[in-house]
Amino acid sequence: MTQTDKVITRFAPSPSGALHLGHAYSAKLNYDFAIENGGEFILRIEDIDHLRCKTEYENSIFVDLHWLGLKWPTPVRRQSDHFEDYAAALKILSDKGLLYPCFCTRKDIREEINESTRAPHMGSKMGPEGLIYPGICRHLTDKEKEEKMNEGIPHAMRIDLKKALSLVNEPLYWTDLRTGTQKAEPELMGDVVLARKDFPTSYHLSVVVDDDIQKITHIIRGEDLYYASHFQKLLQYLLNLKPVTYDHHPLLKTKDGNRLAKRDKSITINSIRESSKTPVDLGAMIKEYL
Ligand code: GLU
Repeated sequence: MTQTDKVITRFAPSPSGALHLGHAYSAKLNYDFAIENGGEFILRIEDIDHLRCKTEYENSIFVDLHWLGLKWPTPVRRQSDHFEDYAAALKILSDKGLLYPCFCTRKDIREEINESTRAPHMGSKMGPEGLIYPGICRHLTDKEKEEKMNEGIPHAMRIDLKKALSLVNEPLYWTDLRTGTQKAEPELMGDVVLARKDFPTSYHLSVVVDDDIQKITHIIRGEDLYYASHFQKLLQYLLNLKPVTYDHHPLLKTKDGNRLAKRDKSITINSIRESSKTPVDLGAMIKEYL
C-alpha cells in the first residue's frame, strides 16, 4: 500500500446460513477500521457454492448489517456474477503450466493416506488445515488424464505447488497487524484446489481476485483464515496482484471452547434483534465470547 492509497476494507460473508455474533464482530472491526482511517467499507457476497448459498440468507445479511448501522456502496459484488474474472485468473496460472486436473474423490484421498500411513516412508503430511493432498493426480501421464477426461470423470483443478514455488525468485512476506511480518509458507497448504468439481473456481482463487479488483488494502478476518493467507500471498505473486495488509482477529467461542457456528440459533444477529437488544448491547455480548 502506498501513502496515497485510500484504506478499503471488506466484509465478505457466504450466504450459507444466518450471521451470528462472530460475524457482527468481524464486520464491525472492518467498518470501524475503514471509518477511523478515512476509508471505505465494502460488503461482498461470496456465493460461488450454489449448493450451499441461498437468496434468503443473502437478504438477511443486508437486513442484519443495516441493523448494526453499517453502510456500504452498492451494487454489492456477488461472486456468482463474476465467474469470468476467476476463469481469466485460472488461465494465467494454466498458461504458466501450474495446474493439473485432479479426479480424486474424498475416498481415493483417504485410501491413499491410509496406505501411506501403513508405509510411513511414503509420508502423507499433516498441515495446519488437515492432511495435505498426497499428489495422486500430479503423477498422471497425459494419456491417463485424457482417458479419464474422455470417460467423463469429474475433475477439479489443483495447483502444482512445487512448480509454482520454482517460479518464485524472492522470499514472500505478508504482514499481519497482530503478529507482524510473516514469511509466506504456502507449503503448509499443499496442492490446493483452485477450481472445484462442482463449480469452476474456489474460495482461494475468487477471494484473491476480488480483493484485487475491489482494491482492498486491509483484510480483517478471523484467525481461522490465518494459514489461508500463507497460500493467498503466493497466488497474489503468481497473478501479479497488489499486496494487502492483514489482521486476523480472534474467533468468538462458547464457554466450552467451541467456535460460534451458523447453526447456533441463539446468537444469530436476527435472534439478538428479536430479543429486543440494541446494536449497542452487542459490544458487551461480544466480550463474553472473546
Ligand atoms: N467468505 C468467507 C467466509 O464466510 C470469508 C472470506 C475471507 O474473509 O477471506 O468465511
